[in-house]
Amino acid sequence: MPKQFAVIGLGRFGSSVARTLTELGHEVLAIDSDEDRIQEALPYVTHAVQADATDEEALKALGIRNFDVVVVAIGADIQASILATLILKELGVPHIVVKAQNHRHGQVLYKIGADEVVFPERDMGVRVARHLVSPNILDYIELADDYSIAEVVASDNMDGKTLRELDIRAKFGCNVLAIKSGTRINIAPRADDVIRSGDILVVVGRNDDLRRLQDKA
Ligand code: ATP
Repeated sequence: MPKQFAVIGLGRFGSSVARTLTELGHEVLAIDSDEDRIQEALPYVTHAVQADATDEEALKALGIRNFDVVVVAIGADIQASILATLILKELGVPHIVVKAQNHRHGQVLYKIGADEVVFPERDMGVRVARHLVSPNILDYIELADDYSIAEVVASDNMDGKTLRELDIRAKFGCNVLAIKSGTRINIAPRADDVIRSGDILVVVGRNDDLRRLQDKA
């Protein structure tokens, strides 16, 4: 069943979250204190309402507690972000995701009961830096301190070879979880599946081993 989302604060981050959730088929209520932002959001969200998220009565009147997930994307005004989160928590919203400006802000948000805190600028900086150092790593998910899942782009060296021939498990100690070729994805790769240059290998392994693999890929 599609979830019901509310997004508070329609800056660059909040509006991107709201737009994407709508495109993914979910109902989205967009909230901002600025009427211009509401007008901009109206074409791409289910509902857009002007309200101050630090006003408990206003949030109650919107029935905010009935939403499955509320995203607080108020950036610059840290006090408003904290207050809105506190109110949402007290009203019993099941899942609250908040954008933090900095580490301290994030700590406070967790203390007052935010379920998830995101640091978009910091995380994007990490991604861009990683991608600059390793252009053939597209994405990275840290599973634990030493282990990650990485998306590695297959180079010409791998073109036409099977997974058996590449022998990634024995040579690098990594497991190929999936192979993406254009819009197709193979989620149960077999030893005789052939890799093409430009395919994306979704690989799990130790960070050191993943680095060795991407140097060779
Ligand atoms: P981004 O980086 O995503 O562009 P930002 O960090 O610049 O955002 P702000 O511009 O401070 O964040 O805030 C984002 C939006 O939140 C703005 O459109 C602003 O009108 C809205 N906003 C700020 N305070 C409140 C509030 N109390 N209630 C509702 N909306 C608010």
